[in-house]
Amino acid sequence: MSSKSDEKSKAEKPAKKSTDKAASKAGKPESHGFQAEVSRLLDIVAHSLYSNKEIFLRELISNASDACDKLRYEALTEANLLDGDTDLKINLSADPKAKTLTVTDNGIGMSHDELVRDLGTIARSGTAAFLDEMSGDGNKDMNLIGQFGVGFYSVFMIADKVEVTSVKAGTQEGWVWKSDGKGSFTVEEATGGVDGDAADRGTTIKIFLNKEALEYAETARISHIVKTYSDHVALPIILDGEQLNVASALWARQKSEIDETQYKEFYHHVSHGGDEPWMTLHNQVEGVVSYSSLIFIPTMRPFDLFQPERNSRLKLYVRRVFISDDCADLLPSWLRFLRGVIDSEDLPLNVSREMLQDNPVVAKIRAATIKRVLAELKKKAEKAPEEYEVFWDNFGLVMKEGLYEDQDHQEQLLALARFHSTTHSTTGSQDGVSAPWVSLADYVGRMKEGQEHIYYISGESGETVAASPQLEEFKARGIEVLLMTDPIDEFWIATAGAFDGKPFQSATRGAVDFDKISTDDTNDKKDETAPDEKKADTGDIAALSAMIKLALGDAVKDVRASNRLTDSPVCLVADEGDMDIHLERMMRQHQRVDAASARILELNPGHDLIKKMADTVREKGASSGEKMDDYAFLLLDQARIIEGESIPDPVAFSRRLAGVMAGGMAD
Ligand code: ADP
Ligand code: MG
Repeated sequence: MSSKSDEKSKAEKPAKKSTDKAASKAGKPESHGFQAEVSRLLDIVAHSLYSNKEIFLRELISNASDACDKLRYEALTEANLLDGDTDLKINLSADPKAKTLTVTDNGIGMSHDELVRDLGTIARSGTAAFLDEMSGDGNKDMNLIGQFGVGFYSVFMIADKVEVTSVKAGTQEGWVWKSDGKGSFTVEEATGGVDGDAADRGTTIKIFLNKEALEYAETARISHIVKTYSDHVALPIILDGEQLNVASALWARQKSEIDETQYKEFYHHVSHGGDEPWMTLHNQVEGVVSYSSLIFIPTMRPFDLFQPERNSRLKLYVRRVFISDDCADLLPSWLRFLRGVIDSEDLPLNVSREMLQDNPVVAKIRAATIKRVLAELKKKAEKAPEEYEVFWDNFGLVMKEGLYEDQDHQEQLLALARFHSTTHSTTGSQDGVSAPWVSLADYVGRMKEGQEHIYYISGESGETVAASPQLEEFKARGIEVLLMTDPIDEFWIATAGAFDGKPFQSATRGAVDFDKISTDDTNDKKDETAPDEKKADTGDIAALSAMIKLALGDAVKDVRASNRLTDSPVCLVADEGDMDIHLERMMRQHQRVDAASARILELNPGHDLIKKMADTVREKGASSGEKMDDYAFLLLDQARIIEGESIPDPVAFSRRLAGVMAGGMAD
């Protein structure tokens, strides 16, 4: 059912021998060390001055509510699990004299092994990455923890000691877990049933409050905390006999009855995050399929976003009963950052995981959810572009997976996609990367007269690609080029082809027809280089190109005069039908192609070096000989270096360079 339990079982378990259990049955508590990550977390929890300690109660109530959800689900197929106690609820009891607070639920409970595993490790994916980000600086770390949600372990912010007594539904054995949160815990057999409840099932957490936390044994204080953070919980939460909450599922209530704080706290519950929802979508749909959905887009990127499973994290309910939190078909993976709940009225209650696959009801909900989310994002992008950019910063990379994987939504996604580009500012600065995000519609709106393509260049980082020699003429003419620096870009561009009827064209592949593009409104740089006498003669360049090609042989596909260079002497481009340079490099890195294809070496007819070489060829013809061969290879190697490629024969390169330098000294 829950992906959690799968994750947990995959997680590294603390060393535990089965003989321990036998030993503790005999009355001797067995002791365990916390997993190293837990110890680190506990240390941070205990030593950081966390202003918001009261959230421990939200975490415990959240776990209790999850435990009841799980039991209700299990009981769909094993009704006797609910025997004798069908009213699921959460009981709180406070004892100021004893300085204790107790949280009890009659949910699924934990077996001996689950206590050891679930309260001794953290298996939530992304934990390691999260802990790596910990700086040791209390305040910063507390912020991160707020984002992450420490879960059960947060109880050690306010406790000297904690005792968890649990009876797993369907078993007779009770076990007690005890810890002071300082590196280890013990587990022993429980002598009585679960405290404070008639049922012999579920979990009781008894907290021995530390001396700074005595307020959490006061009824008024607890009641206030519960109303603040846990009002959305669908089970009754009872404090010393009095019910504190409405106890109906939040998503099933009318929008007008719900305030922002309630949405926010529900978001914290479903997302395990401490950030605010960036967007809240609450919908009650009646029709061919009827369902409620309460879906959030997080403000911050969840830690597990790039786990290989790429699973949807929406919780699926059927008529208020929790069914699954990893229903793969409910959402495409490019929307896996969504958090929340979908509650169907149409699916059968005893729906199994297998039945959820290829299920027409699920498919309809999925299609409607995608439609709704995309429509809301579009609205946001139009009405609040700056807020939208925050979203794109966080989740653009995930959405781009949809550009590649989901042809049906490609057009909508292209309209939502944002890119960096060579600057589009009209203030004159032509180099560098423009800070703001650019939409394809923006780009098309700024296209020059006669420009038919959406130009882009791809590579590893914005700065590197923005400095590519292949962009020199684009910049000189003020033609905007999109900078594609995410690996996935190469793949979706290949499938997308065009936006708004304008084909995408790489600046490093094929020829660019600059002559067609009107650049009348652009800068003076163009005029400086325009006079023809400043460039080598076309015939001379053709002769030089032929000679260089002869020298380089199969190392290049062709050598030709370039129209895209203004400052650099040479660059490499891919031939029209060949794989683009950056894509091929990525493929080589992943061993998908083995040899580098031969490229076209382009020469800048306006560059001094090229002009001198062309002059030499004109004057000396074939007798410019061996020196010209060396120059040819040096030019090619330079172009490779600029491209970030390695030089196939560094020894020869060095010999040639040394030769040229020595020659230079001699002059
Ligand atoms: P999370 O809730 O994100 O999984 P927690 O640290 O809050 O992380 O809880 C860890 C695990 O301990 C839960 O996933 C659950 O398996 C178990 N657990 C905690 N509290 C209870 C409870 N009251 N009943 C049953 N299991 C619980
Ligand atoms: Mg929890």
